[in-house]
Amino acid sequence: MGQNSLKANVWDAGLCTGCGACVGLCPYQGFWEDDVRQVFSCSLSNDEGRCSAYCPRWNLRLSEIYGPPSNKGGSTPELGRIRGYRLARASDPMLRAKAQHGGTLSVLLAMALAQGFADVAVVAGKKESLAMTPALVSSPKEVISYAGSTLFVSPTVSGYHAARKAGFKRIGVVATPCQAQALAKIRSVSERFEDHPGDALSIVLGVFCGWTLSLRPFKERLKELGVGRLVAMDIPAGKGTLEILGDSGLAELPFDGFEPMIREACAFCLDTTAELADISVGSARTNEPWEEMRTWNQVLIRSERGEAFFSQAVELGVLEVREAPRGALEALKTAARAKKQKAIRALRQKTGPGPKLGYLDIQDPFLPKFLEAIETEGGSHEGAH
Ligand SMILES: Cc1cc2nc3c(=O)[nH]c(=O)nc-3n(C[C@H](O)[C@H](O)[C@H](O)COP(=O)(O)OP(=O)(O)OC[C@H]3O[C@@H](n4cnc5c(N)ncnc54)[C@H](O)[C@@H]3O)c2cc1C
Ligand code: SF4
Ligand code: SF4
Repeated sequence: MGQNSLKANVWDAGLCTGCGACVGLCPYQGFWEDDVRQVFSCSLSNDEGRCSAYCPRWNLRLSEIYGPPSNKGGSTPELGRIRGYRLARASDPMLRAKAQHGGTLSVLLAMALAQGFADVAVVAGKKESLAMTPALVSSPKEVISYAGSTLFVSPTVSGYHAARKAGFKRIGVVATPCQAQALAKIRSVSERFEDHPGDALSIVLGVFCGWTLSLRPFKERLKELGVGRLVAMDIPAGKGTLEILGDSGLAELPFDGFEPMIREACAFCLDTTAELADISVGSARTNEPWEEMRTWNQVLIRSERGEAFFSQAVELGVLEVREAPRGALEALKTAARAKKQKAIRALRQKTGPGPKLGYLDIQDPFLPKFLEAIETEGGSHEGAH
């Protein structure tokens, strides 16, 4: 399996998430605006192709990327491993003001660099054209200049390749769920390659993600709205709208009729909360007014490393924490299950009758258990990640 199969089964099939895991490995493909483009055709047709080995939308074997079920830390089919669930935010109000929500991601990333958990971090950088490109940051001060969410795809994983090429041995990455899957896949196939590409991954900070915008239709809509150059965007809780702040004004786009602006590949996405990260961060859902609520994050702590790291941030006083309101975790599970169910329906529709199920490896013994747990309300998840 090499580039040609990747082209036929992922790019041309509308499954490519734009995670960037297949970019920057060779001169044969590149990233343009928000799409992977084939520059030259590659003749590799065997297991040597790293692009397909790393791709989260090709033969994704859930049992391999999640590893064996863990006894420590609850495991749910909707949200993956959970060792802890909190609301958190940066203690520094100046930092919060610059961040998308509570600034938890920026604080954790800055701490990873300051405390030597990572020598460099890969974040999402913005270009003038609205397209995104990964950026490497190596000082805590730099981190804040990349705060804020842009709801376009960033080929972030190609930044991980670039950091490895530059010689970094401990790399932190801020990753959306599909990017975290690609990084987990790199780890799971690492032994196959002489240079062990997964070994440099030191910490993955996950970003919750419902969908990303497709650049071309969004740019057209932006022009029609007359808000000028894009400054920020957000999804205020409970309003069912996308809030767009431009340098000439503010607009709110209702989600009705929004579908054509969303990347096709997101319809097949099984993960809302970056289940394969060490710590995952999203916007908070509380009963407070949005202006207060938006200054907090929901945080899911996943791994042992993530737990130690998060506790250190609280002990150092750089993060404030509080308990999440009752029912918040259940609400998150409901939303995550709905996204998985929708994606499974879309995959079944795409691949038609028969055992094939899109990018999921149907030889995976774990897959039937996973499907049952997601498709049956209240289904058992024993043995599921
Ligand atoms: C595409 C996208 C969709 C999202 N959807 C949801 C959702 O459905 N529900 C929800 O609760 N939260 C969602 N979020 C997360 C939310 O917008 C915030 O990122 C999160 O609450 C963290 O806030 P913060 O203040 O800690 O982040 P900050 O401290 O401001 O840090 C944000 C970090 O995110 C990185 N980043 C920004 N844009 C991107 C991007 N496009 N791709 C990858 N990394 C990026 C930046 O490099 C920065 O390091 C989404 C984020 C993105 C990027
Ligand atoms: S999903 Fe990621 S690795 Fe797969 S083709 Fe798209 S950009 Fe490349
Ligand atoms: S919805 Fe899924 S596939 Fe789309 S950008 Fe987010 S994590 Fe990636």
